[in-house]
Amino acid sequence: MVYLFIGIGVLIVIIVVMVIRTILFSNNEQYIEIIQSNSIINKDEVVKKLQEAIKIKTISNSDTSKTNYQEFEKFIIYLKNAFPLIHKHMNLSIINKYSLLYHWKGKDQLKKPGLIMAHIDVVPIEEGTENDWDVPPFEGKIKDGFVYGRGTMDIKIQIITAMQACENLIKQGVVPERDIYLSFGHDEEIGGQEGALKIVEYLKKEKITFEFVLDEGGAINTGAISSVKKAVAFVGIAEKGYSNLEVKIKAEGGHASTPPTNTSLGLVSKAICKIEKRKMKKRFPLVTRNMILALGKEMNFINQFIIANLWITKPLFMKAFAKPGTNGEALLRTTIAPTMAKASMEPNVLPQCASFTVNCRILHGDNGNKLIKYISNQCKGMDYKINILRMDEPSKVSDPNSEFYKMLSGVIKGLHDNTAVVPYLMVAGTDCRKYECISKNVYRFTPFHIPLEDMKRIHGTNERISEENIINCVRFFETLVKKC
Ligand SMILES: [Zn+2]
Repeated sequence: MVYLFIGIGVLIVIIVVMVIRTILFSNNEQYIEIIQSNSIINKDEVVKKLQEAIKIKTISNSDTSKTNYQEFEKFIIYLKNAFPLIHKHMNLSIINKYSLLYHWKGKDQLKKPGLIMAHIDVVPIEEGTENDWDVPPFEGKIKDGFVYGRGTMDIKIQIITAMQACENLIKQGVVPERDIYLSFGHDEEIGGQEGALKIVEYLKKEKITFEFVLDEGGAINTGAISSVKKAVAFVGIAEKGYSNLEVKIKAEGGHASTPPTNTSLGLVSKAICKIEKRKMKKRFPLVTRNMILALGKEMNFINQFIIANLWITKPLFMKAFAKPGTNGEALLRTTIAPTMAKASMEPNVLPQCASFTVNCRILHGDNGNKLIKYISNQCKGMDYKINILRMDEPSKVSDPNSEFYKMLSGVIKGLHDNTAVVPYLMVAGTDCRKYECISKNVYRFTPFHIPLEDMKRIHGTNERISEENIINCVRFFETLVKKC
């Protein structure tokens, strides 16, 4: 009986502590200065410039012999004509023939410069889907208030609107407080080795470091998290690691009329089944925790109760959040996607060696070695070899409380009512991780507001951006450059 009373007493204390924690959690709002903008944007001018930019087919191809570099040259000339004031007042360095670095001198040379990034290249249109587009992908046409075309969302909008913002400011006689750089790589979609990487090498050689770097990344979405009613601006503060591994498995060859119990292709299938079934361990790194805590503030009491008390609710939360195949799962574990397989060249020849390739996104807390060990374990007992085709460890994590982050939040909130700003972990890759060596504040954000279902248009069919978003992006960059 005494034990029962003690048990009930302990339970009541725990519940009271949990309720107090929830109340403290929901009231613990960080002060953000809202930064308003009253600039007047010439819609027709900037929309037209984006339309023209879309018409230039700056498609990158991993087989660079298939890339038409004349289009990239055309793009550089186009920018020169479209933004005459920038080309008069900023210094342009062309890096490795097709990548661009603009430098705008600010008032205070003691302040570290700021950098806004984007990339010039776009992905191709998947073969066989050309006719699925409502309007052709490289004509820059307008339909129902949207500019359609490859690159409208990823990410010529960022090039054109950031440049338009600078062009407008120069016209108004504004000189930024600190030096501003704009950098546009030409091969982000295929890894950025010839573009962003070369720009960084150049900057390192010049001993230039940055107060902040802002690249493409998250956007403002509604409906991204069902329990959050507000729009959410997702600002990437880190990105997962990236790896491609090829696994080769050997077995007996010979004539297919007398097959062994397992051919090498059969063993490949077994290994893939194991990888898909026994996933890597879930984790809850700080970068994911920061995101969940920020989102939690926008949720109802029950959700806040769970999130404010992760010390006790973590297992329950992780189970609910990381449902298989969801974004939540990708935020809580290293993902491994088998994407390619090879075996015999003939239907009647047993393959002596078969192989498969996995595309992996490594979560903070894991690393390349752990990943390879895990894959090895799934191939135990087989005659296998793992080739590392690419191995990028998880990025550094930028501070979600830095002065720049707070200012960025203020600009977003000033332009978009009723919007929460949330630091998040990007599960996809960008060029800006290459800049980690020259800035500790590297953020990933594109200032357009789109419904979640439109995100699949990126790299997909009917990629488009609304005229309203185009204007808002110019306003965002104008405000940011003036304020930073
Ligand atoms: Zn992109």
